[in-house]
Amino acid sequence: MTCPSIPFTSLVPREDAADVRAAIDRVVASGWFVLGPEVDAFETEFAAASGAARAVGTGNGTDAIALALRALGIGPGDEVITTALSAAYTALAVLMAGARPVFADIAPARLTIDPEAVSAAVTPRTRAIVPVHLYGQAADMDAIARVASRHHLAIVEDCCQAHLATARGRAVGTMGAAGAFSFYPTKNLGALGDGGAIVTSDRQLADRLVRLRNGGQTDRYRHQEPGVNSRLDEMQAAILRARLPRLAAWTERRRSLAGAYRTALAGARVEVPPAADPGHVYHLFVVQAPRRGGDDRRAALQQHLKAQGIETLVHYPIPIPRQPAMAGSGPADCPRAAAACDAVLSLPLHPGLTDGELADVAAAVHEFQ
Ligand SMILES: *Cc1c(COP(=O)(O)O)cnc(C)c1O
Repeated sequence: MTCPSIPFTSLVPREDAADVRAAIDRVVASGWFVLGPEVDAFETEFAAASGAARAVGTGNGTDAIALALRALGIGPGDEVITTALSAAYTALAVLMAGARPVFADIAPARLTIDPEAVSAAVTPRTRAIVPVHLYGQAADMDAIARVASRHHLAIVEDCCQAHLATARGRAVGTMGAAGAFSFYPTKNLGALGDGGAIVTSDRQLADRLVRLRNGGQTDRYRHQEPGVNSRLDEMQAAILRARLPRLAAWTERRRSLAGAYRTALAGARVEVPPAADPGHVYHLFVVQAPRRGGDDRRAALQQHLKAQGIETLVHYPIPIPRQPAMAGSGPADCPRAAAACDAVLSLPLHPGLTDGELADVAAAVHEFQ
């Protein structure tokens, strides 16, 4: 084990430590741990922060996607179009709902799903599109909404990397039937464990989600439909409530760090994300070092940075349709996603990263030949 001098991220509570501790103590003292006042309050507060009428807490972001699809009546026999470049959990959630993921390639400019590829993938069985707001940047929602309305498809937005992100001024999660969020510790709003939520402005859909996450119960011990057990617990809800008021400031810090990277990396031999998008929340700052012939420049760059104690990660190394787990459901040729998987490298970016650390990372990237 090496101990990088600039770690990829830092998850220990810092300026919010006292508030997080108070939230934990409050829940411990209450003696109430599942589906109680903290979850109720967090759902109200997160819905308001997200610009949606309702939020429904879940056990994690994957379940949030799967339950949103199920609540829309999507399941066995249905096809759901999603991107080839994301965390594999996006597509696993489609499988969990019982539907078949169909993969569309990405548009190179923002590495999110290509609306034209979505259009080409529609069949009579297609019921929904799950765009992913990858790395914190909204997908091309205007064009995706046009494809959806032309074919009467539902949209479930995967917002797991995009808390508070906007697309041309509109909040992610509010442009389709529902938006799914994750509060996995590394996300822009993270719990100290797993957590997730679905936002929607469709009250009936929200009511159904409240049942589905809790065993399909309408009243206690009365199970109306085969739901699952996927609840945000009181401890995590209380921690998220303690952190939510800081999310806007953390997001501004991420944006300012991304701006500083852009400036500092000018002239370096990597591609930085194109033109600043004001709605981007920079869950990740992803540069690209594409392969040249047999030369794996991304691996060389990652090794070069590692040798200087700088930890980086690859999001993601394998296009989802090429995952063995997808062999039975959705193989597809997505050459642009495959090329991105060979080129992308995520540099350290989190609200606690200092200006000096960022300068050190940028200087190390400049040294890369
Ligand atoms: C994290 C993530 C998920 C899964 O969320 P979990 O809470 O880990 O289940 C799904 N999609 C994307 C894009 C993610 O980043």
